[in-house]
Amino acid sequence: MKKKIGHLVMWVEFGVLTILLARFCAVRIGENVEGIRGFLVQKQENTESISKKIEKEAASDKVIGVSDGRDGRTEDTPEDTSEDTMEGGCQEKKKVALTFDDGPSSKYTPLLLEGLKERGVHATFFLMGKNIEGKEVLVKQMQEEGHLIGNHTYNHVQLDKISKEAAKEEIEATNQEIYEITGVYPAWLRPPYGEWRKNLDFYVGMFPVLWDVDTLDWKSKNVDSIMRIVKNEVEDGAVILMHDAYQSSVDAALQIVDLLMKEGYKFVTVDKLILP
Ligand SMILES: [Zn+2]
Repeated sequence: MKKKIGHLVMWVEFGVLTILLARFCAVRIGENVEGIRGFLVQKQENTESISKKIEKEAASDKVIGVSDGRDGRTEDTPEDTSEDTMEGGCQEKKKVALTFDDGPSSKYTPLLLEGLKERGVHATFFLMGKNIEGKEVLVKQMQEEGHLIGNHTYNHVQLDKISKEAAKEEIEATNQEIYEITGVYPAWLRPPYGEWRKNLDFYVGMFPVLWDVDTLDWKSKNVDSIMRIVKNEVEDGAVILMHDAYQSSVDAALQIVDLLMKEGYKFVTVDKLILP
């Protein structure tokens, strides 16, 4: 009898232990399930935040100007919506790029931006780093209104006359100034005096942009002279060099736009000329 009771106690103890063990396991499994669920929720949140980030970046891509087609156009920026085709055929419109060096200028850049906006035209501005301070609003305006912003070195240095390290510093300091305002590192660079050091593009990771039509606007400061040069030299695909540093340049630039638009030209930023 005692033996039977002993066995019974043993079985009861075994049963209790089994129940305890089962409950313990259930709790642990539950914890694991909770843990996995938490992990999955976190993962989903991460995925959501990543996709939100991508969406945000995609949206901001619409207002930045770089070489891969992101030319900085905003939804509300007026632009030439006319067809790229000539009447009665599939021939593309002639393209031309207006470029302005040495800015921004607190006096003349706003006038130029206003005139370009009225005409729904985008230009390319190659900024000097040292001219940016105090004119951040203008740089932001250029970006918001769909213009392309490029680099013209910090101090207007001749890049083949200094070491490649010094050239890199000049270029990167300017890129940094522009980046802090626009959130975009420029990809395009206008070398002062048109002088470029061999292979510097690989060293600094930027594309040099020269010109086809030199208006000599800084020299003549004369609208008629500038217009004469443009009329003589402009052709499909031309890059026109100007400076938003003089009233005569602003006046001439807007006249050039009016004239060439009548002649069937479409004004584009330089990235659109080089990478159609
Ligand atoms: Zn210059």
